[in-house]
Amino acid sequence: MTHFQIIGGGIAGASIAYHLAKNEQKVTVYDRHDQGQATSASAGIICPWTSQRRNKAWYRLVKAGAKYYPTFIKELEGLTGHSTGYQQNGALSLFKDSHIQGLAYERIMNKAAEAPEMGQVKKLSPDELRTLHPYLTTHFPAVYVEGGAQVSGNMLLETLKLAIKKLGGEWIATDQAPKELLGKVIYTAGAWANEYAEDANVRHQRAELLDIKVNTNINRSDIPVVMGLGPMYIVNNGNQHFYIGTTHEDTVQFDTSENEVNRDYLLTQANRYFTEHTIEKCYSSIGMRPLTDDNLPFIGPVNGVYVVNGLGSSGLTAGPVIGREVARFLLGLETTLNLTDYNHLA
Ligand SMILES: Cc1cc2nc3c(=O)[nH]c(=O)nc-3n(C[C@H](O)[C@H](O)[C@H](O)COP(=O)(O)OP(=O)(O)OC[C@H]3O[C@@H](n4cnc5c(N)ncnc54)[C@H](O)[C@@H]3O)c2cc1C
Repeated sequence: MTHFQIIGGGIAGASIAYHLAKNEQKVTVYDRHDQGQATSASAGIICPWTSQRRNKAWYRLVKAGAKYYPTFIKELEGLTGHSTGYQQNGALSLFKDSHIQGLAYERIMNKAAEAPEMGQVKKLSPDELRTLHPYLTTHFPAVYVEGGAQVSGNMLLETLKLAIKKLGGEWIATDQAPKELLGKVIYTAGAWANEYAEDANVRHQRAELLDIKVNTNINRSDIPVVMGLGPMYIVNNGNQHFYIGTTHEDTVQFDTSENEVNRDYLLTQANRYFTEHTIEKCYSSIGMRPLTDDNLPFIGPVNGVYVVNGLGSSGLTAGPVIGREVARFLLGLETTLNLTDYNHLA
C-alpha cells in the first residue's frame, strides 16, 4: 500500500489526508503550525456565488466547494462528534444604492439555475435587513442569499485532525518535516511554499481581521455573513463579537504582529455599519494568504512531489472539495473537477 506523506496541515493538507484516510489509505501529516497559518486565521465565509470574479475555472472550483460543504460537514461531525463551527445562516450583500442592488440581484440570479445549493435569493428592504441582522444599523439596500455559510478554520482543522486519527492516519506536530520521505509526498505548505521542495510560483499576502465587540443588548447567533461596500465583510464571532475583514499586503515577510494602522482602518470600516452602537477593537487575527500570479490554486506534480497550494482568498471554501478530488485523482478514481485546469506548469 502507498504511504501518503503530507507536509503542511492547513485545510489543503488536512482535507487531502482525511479523504485519503476515508479511502483506507495510509497517511501521515507533518505540520509545524506556523504563526500566520492561513486556515486558523481565516474568516471562514462560504459564499462564492456573489463574487464578481469572472474566471470560470475558479468559479467551478468554489461552486463545487460550497455545494460539497453540507455533506462534508455532516460526515465529519458525525464521525468525530466534534463541531466545526459551520453555520448556514445565509449571506447579505450590501450596495450603495438600489440601482446597483438591482444589477447585483440579476447577476446572482443568473447563476441560480446551475447552483440550486444557493437557495433562495431576494432583494431586502431596510426593515427586512434589520430583522435578519439586528446588529446592523445601516440602510444600505441588500441582497440575501440563503445558502451562504461560515465555518471556523480552527475548529474545522481540529475536527479533521481527530477524524484522520480515527481513520487510522497519523498527525505529527513537528518543527520540520523529514527531508527524506518514502512513499508519495504531497506538499501543502501554504505561504511557506519553497522550503521543502521547489515551489509552484506561490507568493503570499499578509491578511488581517479585526475582532470587534458591539456594545448592545441584542444577543442573536443566527446571523448571516455580510459582504459590505467595497472589499469588506462582517462575520459573526459569537457573543456580540464580529470579525471585520480584511487587509491585503503583498510581502515576503512572515510578520504576524498587530498593526495599529490596519486595526484603525478596519475599525473605520466597521463604524459604517454599526452606527447606533459603540464598538471596541479587540484582537487581530493575522494570516498569510498563499497566492499564485493568476489567482488560481496550483494542483499538480513538481519534480516528483505533488503540490497543492495558492488557495488564495477562497481556500476555506475550496479546501474540502480539493481534498476529495485530489484523493480520488491520486487513487486513480474518476474526478468531478478537471484538475489539469489548476496545473499551471502542465
Ligand atoms: C485573514 C484571512 C481571511 C480569510 N478568509 C477566508 C474566507 O472567508 N473564506 C475562504 O474561503 N477563505 C478565506 N481565506 C483563505 C484561506 O484561509 C486560505 O486559502 C487557506 O486556509 C490556505 O490553506 P493552506 O492549507 O494552503 O495553507 P495554511 O492554512 O497556511 O497551512 C499551511 C501549513 O503548512 C505548514 N508547513 C509549512 N511548511 C512546513 C514544513 N516544511 N513542515 C511542516 N509543516 C509545514 C504550516 O505551518 C501551516 O500549518 C482567508 C485567509 C486569511 C489569511
